[in-house]
Amino acid sequence: MRLILALFLATLLSIQAEDYMTLHVDATDLTRGLLTSEMEIHTSDTEIVMWYPKWIPGIHGPRNPVENLGGVYFYSEKGEKLKWHRNSHEPFRFICKLDQDTKKVRIKLRYICNQPNGNSTGVDSYGNSQMGVINWNTVLLYPAWKNNQIKVRTKLTLPKGWKYASALQTKSQEKQTITFKTTTLEELIDCPLICGQYFRTVDLKVNNFPPHYLHLVAESSSDLNIPEKLIQKYRRCVQQAQKIFFKPHFREYHFLVFMSNRLPSMGLEHLSSSLNGIGEKDFFNAWSLKGWVGSLLPHEYVHSWCGKYRRPIGMHTPDYHSNKDTRLLWIYEGLTTYLGEVLAVRSGFLTPEEYIPRFTRKLNYLMKQTGRSWRPLEDTCVCTYTLRQRSKNWGVWRRGQDYYDEGLLLWLEIDTMIRHRSFGEKSLDDFCIQFFGKGNSGQALAFDLLEVYQILDNIVQYDWKNFIEGRIKEPKDKLPLNLVNLCGYRMIYTNKASRYLQELQRRRKYIDASDSLGILFSYDGQIRKIIPGMVGDQSGIAPGMQVTGINGQKFTVSNLENAIANSIVTGKIELLVFERYTYKILTLKYDGGAKYLHLERVPNSPDMLTKILRPVK
Ligand SMILES: [Zn+2]
Repeated sequence: MRLILALFLATLLSIQAEDYMTLHVDATDLTRGLLTSEMEIHTSDTEIVMWYPKWIPGIHGPRNPVENLGGVYFYSEKGEKLKWHRNSHEPFRFICKLDQDTKKVRIKLRYICNQPNGNSTGVDSYGNSQMGVINWNTVLLYPAWKNNQIKVRTKLTLPKGWKYASALQTKSQEKQTITFKTTTLEELIDCPLICGQYFRTVDLKVNNFPPHYLHLVAESSSDLNIPEKLIQKYRRCVQQAQKIFFKPHFREYHFLVFMSNRLPSMGLEHLSSSLNGIGEKDFFNAWSLKGWVGSLLPHEYVHSWCGKYRRPIGMHTPDYHSNKDTRLLWIYEGLTTYLGEVLAVRSGFLTPEEYIPRFTRKLNYLMKQTGRSWRPLEDTCVCTYTLRQRSKNWGVWRRGQDYYDEGLLLWLEIDTMIRHRSFGEKSLDDFCIQFFGKGNSGQALAFDLLEVYQILDNIVQYDWKNFIEGRIKEPKDKLPLNLVNLCGYRMIYTNKASRYLQELQRRRKYIDASDSLGILFSYDGQIRKIIPGMVGDQSGIAPGMQVTGINGQKFTVSNLENAIANSIVTGKIELLVFERYTYKILTLKYDGGAKYLHLERVPNSPDMLTKILRPVK
């Protein structure tokens, strides 16, 4: 009996000992945009099936760039090259026959960096002579008979002199080869790495919270000298997040930032880190820091709680090939967009006064998404990755990934409803404490809509199910606008654009006549966008057409502005439009002059928006 037990234990131990794979990524050629990797996997079968990861968290789609593999090689234990083939219906699935003696298979991959597909920007790998970004999902195959909990022993060899940062824990380093502590496949893929010649780590330590670091890789050493004031804002961001979420579920948090004009701008969330790509000088540019760049790190940071720790049940899959149900992205991305923007203002990236015209523009954009009449918000979640690319023409009918900004509006509305219904006693902060404070394990926790309804109902009793389902599941002719009033504001139109919109138009070289004519013009007269049902649409003009003249004069920005302003007197605007070989005159019957949406305070009502945006003491 004792012998049998000993044999059983020995077998168990040997199984456990082999229940892992090794991965060695050679990044010495990353300077030329190439990565190679080598894996070892134990098997007792005579055929192995391996997956190239397909659905990568964060991009919400089956778009890991399998098309960029530049070499796949299988070897037997004796070192002989083995034949493999791909599943004829599934380009991510590799099959290889083994001989009886092979118990350990070696696989080599070569990956071509710097050419993301329309969806893979945030999960791809990049490299140039100065810096690199490694997403492990691009350089590995995993056994089909295992899930994402298989253990991986990972090594990485970097170009000479390069430094690196990642949420992975380093076990040892010998010259340029780093050995990381063993992780699960899930943890590995969730921990991208940045590396480069010009590298800096800033400690963002705050009291009573785990260590936080801001890691920078840049194209030149001078770009690493970011202003001290900016560092203070990121430290404040961590402090303010602490006041929203209270409970961390990570051991450490790493903001990974690469600053380059040669690599794409991007952001991608992870549990203990975020990967952020910005332009070389963005951290020195006040305009960028009040816009996308300023809200980038707060947004990805919020995701550590919203999306990574608390994950929609249909997206909490045990591997990288099962399909995901993305219907709850209006929470995953919508609540994150809301909290991320609130956090950016509370951290001091912009003032509430600077935020309001930016918010107004979002609201105006969504008001004009006429596709809402056939496509409810939830459908934009289901179709998430198919909507990643902007529709060049008639995007208002197709809609985009509207669950980000329309999700933001919905959560702002929920926040203000809680505040009003509880007479100022409660807010969305109470929801955040209960929702994100659940559990203790540090492992991702799945949620469903029922849990969301229950927590909201605990805070303020209301028919949240009916309210939310009405917002997300039903097509609508108009964007619900109750939230404007709930925030303490009303919508007005004036003949002058906000200073923010004026500056935006100047920088992006377009004229926004969407509130007057229902048209967006490029500075050169190209039609960028038409709003269905408005006067431009009724004139028969189409996206992409070229306006060459206006009211008998050459098309220029000032002639267009004058024509719109003078329409009060003339009652019409004539556009000379060129299309292919012909010119034609289109007459817009319009007498409203210049028109721009603004939000104005309703006197003697509480200013909820500013109250929400104020830093928490
Ligand atoms: Zn996001």
